[in-house]
Amino acid sequence: MDIYSTLVEFKAHPGVTGIFSDLDGTLSAIAQTPESASVTTGVREVLTMLKERYKVVGIVSGRASDDAKRMVGLDDLLYIGSHGVEWIEEGERHYAPEVKKYLDMAPSLHNELSDYFTKTDIRVEKKDLGAALHYRLSADKDAALALIEPVVEKMLAKYPMKVVRGRFVVELKPDIGLDKGDTIIAVCLREGLANVLYIGDDVTDIDAFKALRRLEETENFKAVSAAVASNEAAAEVAEAADFSLAGVDEVEELLRWLAE
Ligand SMILES: [Mg+2]
Repeated sequence: MDIYSTLVEFKAHPGVTGIFSDLDGTLSAIAQTPESASVTTGVREVLTMLKERYKVVGIVSGRASDDAKRMVGLDDLLYIGSHGVEWIEEGERHYAPEVKKYLDMAPSLHNELSDYFTKTDIRVEKKDLGAALHYRLSADKDAALALIEPVVEKMLAKYPMKVVRGRFVVELKPDIGLDKGDTIIAVCLREGLANVLYIGDDVTDIDAFKALRRLEETENFKAVSAAVASNEAAAEVAEAADFSLAGVDEVEELLRWLAE
């Protein structure tokens, strides 16, 4: 069965269905820098339509939730940020209790990293719970990584953080056992969802694919996962998902069909 046939059931029961999607590379084309990434008017319109129809529409991102919200530009969606450790729900910011101490730690981490990389083409992004090092714009990606890795080791010795590697980004985030999957599961249970679609393109989305599959084993629950293919996406993302979509355009097409 293709993804459309599989989702007919979801479309028929919007009151118990949640639609979750990653942002960068899934709802928006990958841009040169995180700041220049944007969501098209068409995608924004589709998300608005989905929100009117389905029980939960969640944007799930490695970005901070307020940054994801700014980028999408819609007030009343659920924004799960920082890979699941904080979220905005009904306009209000929430943090998982385990991460609150990181709010105080993050500014000094960011300052230290900025000192190391000021004279390079590596960009240090400040996050409220950690920091990210972007080398997408680096002329020599291997050389950039060779600069990044030893500094990251130093920071790990000093801060209780862990490393998450994405596409041309190395991120320091709270070393707690929470990921995108855990937070989504909590939402599914709290909202009494019976069906969930999750779309993503990054290796961190695999956590969500797997968590939803685990939930299927214990609850009366149906999960469908879709990986968005791109030149940069790891093959393991596609392997971990039920279906593949060719790119952001196919995601929009699918979501529009679900929204109508
Ligand atoms: Mg992504």
